[in-house]
Amino acid sequence: MTGNFAARKVRVNGIVQGVGFRPFVYQLARRHGLRGEVANTPDGVRIHVEGLCRDIDAFRRDLGDHPPPLAQVTEIVDCPDPVDGYTDFSIAASQRHATRSTLISPDVCVCDDCLEELFDPRDRRYRYPFINCTNCGPRYTIIEDIPYDRPATAMQGFTMCRRCQAEYDDPGDRRFHAQPNACADCGPQVALYDRRRRPVAGDAVETAADLLKRGKIVAVKGLGGFHLAADATNAAVVSRLRKRKNRDKKPFALMSYRLADIVRYAVVRAFEQELLTCPQRPIVLLEKRTPNPLCPQVAPGNRYFGVMLPYTPLHYLLLGCGFSALVMTSGNRAHEPLAIENEEAFGRLSDIADYFLVHNRPIIIRSDDSIVRIAAGATRFARRSRGYVPVPLFLKTKVPPILACGGELKNTVCLSMENRAFLSQHIGDLENPAAGRFFENTIAHMQRILDIRPEMIAHDLHPDYLSTRYARQQTDVQKIGVQHHHAHIASCMAENGIDGPVIGLAFDGSGYGGDGRIWGGEVLIVEGHRFRRVAHLAEVALPGGAAAIREPWRMAVSYLYATFGDDLRNLALPVIRKIDSRKIDVIVAMIAKRVNSPLTSSMGRLFDGVAGLLGMRDRVSYEGQAAMELEMLAGSDQAAAYDFEWADGDVRVVALAPLVRQVVRDILTGRPAAEISARFHRTLIELFTALCETIRAESGLKRVVLSGGVFQNVRLLSGFVRILAQKKFDVYTHKKVPANDGGLCLGQLLVAAETAARKRLRCV
Ligand code: ZN
Ligand code: ZN
Ligand code: FE
Repeated sequence: MTGNFAARKVRVNGIVQGVGFRPFVYQLARRHGLRGEVANTPDGVRIHVEGLCRDIDAFRRDLGDHPPPLAQVTEIVDCPDPVDGYTDFSIAASQRHATRSTLISPDVCVCDDCLEELFDPRDRRYRYPFINCTNCGPRYTIIEDIPYDRPATAMQGFTMCRRCQAEYDDPGDRRFHAQPNACADCGPQVALYDRRRRPVAGDAVETAADLLKRGKIVAVKGLGGFHLAADATNAAVVSRLRKRKNRDKKPFALMSYRLADIVRYAVVRAFEQELLTCPQRPIVLLEKRTPNPLCPQVAPGNRYFGVMLPYTPLHYLLLGCGFSALVMTSGNRAHEPLAIENEEAFGRLSDIADYFLVHNRPIIIRSDDSIVRIAAGATRFARRSRGYVPVPLFLKTKVPPILACGGELKNTVCLSMENRAFLSQHIGDLENPAAGRFFENTIAHMQRILDIRPEMIAHDLHPDYLSTRYARQQTDVQKIGVQHHHAHIASCMAENGIDGPVIGLAFDGSGYGGDGRIWGGEVLIVEGHRFRRVAHLAEVALPGGAAAIREPWRMAVSYLYATFGDDLRNLALPVIRKIDSRKIDVIVAMIAKRVNSPLTSSMGRLFDGVAGLLGMRDRVSYEGQAAMELEMLAGSDQAAAYDFEWADGDVRVVALAPLVRQVVRDILTGRPAAEISARFHRTLIELFTALCETIRAESGLKRVVLSGGVFQNVRLLSGFVRILAQKKFDVYTHKKVPANDGGLCLGQLLVAAETAARKRLRCV
């Protein structure tokens, strides 16, 4: 048989377009002496091979065993095909019809081969800022439509020169069908302007580097948007950047040329080194070294730096000019989306940046830098965006096409097709009108490039969220509202591939409860499409609503009033001494009369309140700041817990008065804040572990799922993981999507899918 001549058809699905898959197949087929052709199709790659059976078998084995580095093959299907009498092996033109379930590659950092050429004076692309090949370069951010071919990308305006075209056409070349292929003669160019849009003479990159060294702020157009760059060792310029960006304390991200630079200012452990150097090139949160050569204004009041290595050739050229680190913060004003167009950047950033290093390759879709850290032994996403999007998460079962709209803050959206969930890049806080437009554009863009027409839309229950309003406006599609904390727990279940019932600890800032109140410190039993609230933190007033989130002292007064009533004024606490007594009277009156003081069981606010009691901060400049500073402060994790109690009932209510009393006593007796913070963290861990044990005794449930933004707190996360495991619980945490609202859409999607499945069952 093996001597026989035959033909076979092979379909390969997964991330196989724009990653050098066809040249790989071409070379493989030729090596095995086969004839036929390979083509991109809307759902992957199709191969027809003819030759000796023995050679076809060997080809088929190699195809699965050694795919190109960026390919992610999810499926290879093959079957016999009639012999057509091909005379050689070729690469056929792309087909544009039928379904489009092919997977698009995320943006990938410049590869080692291209880097070598970039810095090789003999190479024709020496110092060309847009060098790339089939193994690297922009993808998601330059794709307008699929199949992924040059006319459907941001490169459509650039005609390849003769030499580039020859590389593009040569199946033996590293740039064969590399859609963004270009050189200095034919491709995109960089240019440098001052803030009044006058061109600056000289080599754009070298001049920009000089300006940075002289303490200027330069807006740099990158892969998914603009960065604002400044010398991280220059205190004056970093302070100026903070002032101009109206950003008080929130840490700035850093970029360094190489690992050797990073280890001078931050601690890099083995896992973190792996993350820093991976092709996704996220911002990695690393513990600061003290002392370090960077100026303190980079990340004031924070134990960590957010650091990344360069990921575009332009970054390499810029950083290669001799910086130990550059601040590379997102090019936007507070709360607005990243600027991506040159016009837009000149308009919006001209009173922040002194100079603009721009280029003329359009960014089709905005994509912020991803942010990750290692905590409790695994990778944890604070933001999953550039480099990871649009790689899907694989679900346990096939689901209908669903759009999940996410929450209000740190918004992301999600689309499903069969067993894949495609999470969008970071969209941001939807309170801003520009972010609202970005939200709608992203949904339209993803529906187009993934060719998904949702049959259902899942959304939050909060009637005022922009994402909810958007969902409710859509017609001809089934809509499903999903409770916020139900979605959090379901999100973590989805990425861990587990079904209910489970005990879910959902701890976050705020989410609209099933009763119209603001939830956030919740214990839920979750089973797919439904959940039951079995315990929560005692409710307190949020005096002034959103103002209570901006001013943690208000929360401190609220917890004090709930515990001590009017006697709170007699307590010699820093918060009482520091804040004008008339302001305190106003807040107390608001709470007592229930004026603009909604009730909340939020865990995030409890952190704010304790930080407020310690007098740490009267105002925060971003949500979660006080809570984060309380975590940073925490001393030894051997600290003893405070006494705790809860009220039994259908729904257990965790009493907060005993906790507040003990914290107040410790403050009054002069215990150090580090110890109080450590005891507070320890109390939460022991209290909720005890609650889980009680629930297990009643229900037999032993799986505990942790989700919600508060689990970005490393002390809390690692404490829970450790103690719950000691008590023989199976603990599930987020490793693929953020625990915060950036992961919410995945849970909404899963709940909607389960609801649909239930309905179908009932119909049968
Ligand atoms: Zn390359
Ligand atoms: Zn060229
Ligand atoms: Fe949340």
